[in-house]
Amino acid sequence: MNSIELRRELHRHPELSFEEYRTQQTIVEALEAEGIPYRTIAGTGVLAIIEGARGNHRRAVVLRADIDALPITELNDVEYRSESEGVMHACGHDMHTAMLFGVLSELNRERDFEGTLFGLFQPGEELNPGGASLVIKEEPFAGYDVAAVIGQHVDARLEVGEVGICPGEFMASNDELRFYVTGRGGHAARRGDIDDTVTAMCDLVVRTTALNTPDAVVSVGRVVAEGATNVIPDRVTAEGTMRTFDATERERIYSHLRSNAKSVEEKYGVEVVVDINRGYPSVVNDVMLAYEAMIVATDEGIVVRELQRIPMAEDFGYYTECFPSLFYRLGVGDKAGGSHTATFLPDEAAMAVGERMMRRMALHMLNK
Ligand SMILES: [Zn+2]
Ligand SMILES: [Zn+2]
Repeated sequence: MNSIELRRELHRHPELSFEEYRTQQTIVEALEAEGIPYRTIAGTGVLAIIEGARGNHRRAVVLRADIDALPITELNDVEYRSESEGVMHACGHDMHTAMLFGVLSELNRERDFEGTLFGLFQPGEELNPGGASLVIKEEPFAGYDVAAVIGQHVDARLEVGEVGICPGEFMASNDELRFYVTGRGGHAARRGDIDDTVTAMCDLVVRTTALNTPDAVVSVGRVVAEGATNVIPDRVTAEGTMRTFDATERERIYSHLRSNAKSVEEKYGVEVVVDINRGYPSVVNDVMLAYEAMIVATDEGIVVRELQRIPMAEDFGYYTECFPSLFYRLGVGDKAGGSHTATFLPDEAAMAVGERMMRRMALHMLNK
């Protein structure tokens, strides 16, 4: 099976995060047909392991692809459209998976490198806690000297033949915030007998959004106080999102959220609970690796666009926390439309570019 055939097979049979059973089986069969050694990882993932023909095998490069799909009903009219009602590869992970397979097949035949090449087919990128966190917990690279973890993602804002690279801070951490203010509600006219939970929450929201900086987003998108014109409710709730580009800034905002809660408690005599559902860490690209990738790409005749950081999240951040890593974008042309929509359709011509880029980066980092 070549990588375009594999991509179409995966596209026909998309599966939701952490339910990638058939996908896992398809990957396993494709690897077996090529004689590539592997084991399963993180439940529904697969880890291919190829040792180079030369020298010591401690030095390692990890190429990563995410394999899950989204709860969307596909509206594309293509021969390989999704056969699973309500599930669709609308983020290009079918392409990521197929390109990784293409790279591994080629390098497995050649084996003209030093060290160990890992091909990581990772489940559950689209859903908290993220498959990457499960991979990291298993410590599959213990005992290896990991020179680079490399991942790519299709991007409709770039043309086919282009890659987008951002040295350093690239994508944001993503935490869900929930606020609960509780007190003695009651008749709105008897202010002496009640705790003003509504004003306390308003104050808390203003203090929360005051934490916004050019380097961090803190937004509250939902506030619920189900009182009435003359009723102050016992409980007011709110929800929001928080995004940062580095771990220190993230911790700084957490501590402000906690101290704000304390101040509001003291000022209004209410109880305040701030619940932080930690999402993915920020994706911080290794700066040297990013510049080396720019050189490698240019050498391959691939056009490099230097990208600005974006406030979206990716579980690839778990790798950038642990290893020198690079997450770059692969142009699929603006005709692809928006990802996470029912008509997202990236150009398969980009796959050859993505495979060349990944293959060359792997060899570059292994043979250094
Ligand atoms: Zn996505
Ligand atoms: Zn994605």
